[in-house]
Amino acid sequence: MKVSFFGVRGSIAVPGDDTRRYGGNTSCVQVQVEGAPPLVVDCGSGARTLGRELVLGQHHHVDMLFTHLHLDHVSGLPFFGPIYSPNCRLSISVPAITKDEAEAKLGRYLNGVYHPVRLRDLAATVHVEHVRIGRDFDRGAFHIEPVRLNHPGGCFGYRVEHGDRSVVYLADTAPLSRLDEGLSAGSPPTALETTVLHALREADLVVMDTMFSFDEYVEKMTWGHGYPEYAVRLCEAAGARRLALYHHSPDATDQALDELGERWAQYQGLDVFVAREGGSVDLEG
Ligand SMILES: [Zn+2]
Ligand SMILES: [Zn+2]
Repeated sequence: MKVSFFGVRGSIAVPGDDTRRYGGNTSCVQVQVEGAPPLVVDCGSGARTLGRELVLGQHHHVDMLFTHLHLDHVSGLPFFGPIYSPNCRLSISVPAITKDEAEAKLGRYLNGVYHPVRLRDLAATVHVEHVRIGRDFDRGAFHIEPVRLNHPGGCFGYRVEHGDRSVVYLADTAPLSRLDEGLSAGSPPTALETTVLHALREADLVVMDTMFSFDEYVEKMTWGHGYPEYAVRLCEAAGARRLALYHHSPDATDQALDELGERWAQYQGLDVFVAREGGSVDLEG
């Protein structure tokens, strides 16, 4: 199983000299296994590059998962090449109570106002599916477990499994406990932490929102984003193997992200690295 980063930024795309090495595009990750349709998780501005690769690779089936529909996770959809390919079948999974609600949510963005092409007029064959907490499902070669996160308006994380390999994608989320309780306080996990720990159990890779430093989190607790020390604590409590710090602040320069990576490279308990656009992790064997 291979996990590739096409956009690692939160909030807004930030091209420029200060973000050249880690990349300025917003959230988009691809999960692949040999001989199966690729799974695209979130469709931020990084999805444009991924879409071009998929069209060139003549993929006829693509599965896409949305965590939520904040703009930094959906802005790449109108520029994701496979949606304009008549030979392509696309299944798009959206957190919603019903299939109609899932379609309506996506259709609000592709409706002729914010983009000239409407969802119902796309050249590809598009199936929109709804995803609910407590209902695991299969997409192509992958078994997927949704889990509820802590983010304004709601957001789902996903555990994606193939055989005995697993990646857990947790963007966007604030810590799942207040500072005076649960893992934040070094105490037994809260109820919400317990469900997320179950999703994280012995994961080979965790990709997690660490947009803030601890001090920024304390200032902006209601914004729904986390910080590295909490992500590490959560991964260690779940026995996860690797952690990708992800959904970087638009203000985080390459130099700041280098320093973050150097700091965590010294850490003994867990393999922690800073996600970089264009980077990938191979989870085979
Ligand atoms: Zn976001
Ligand atoms: Zn968000």
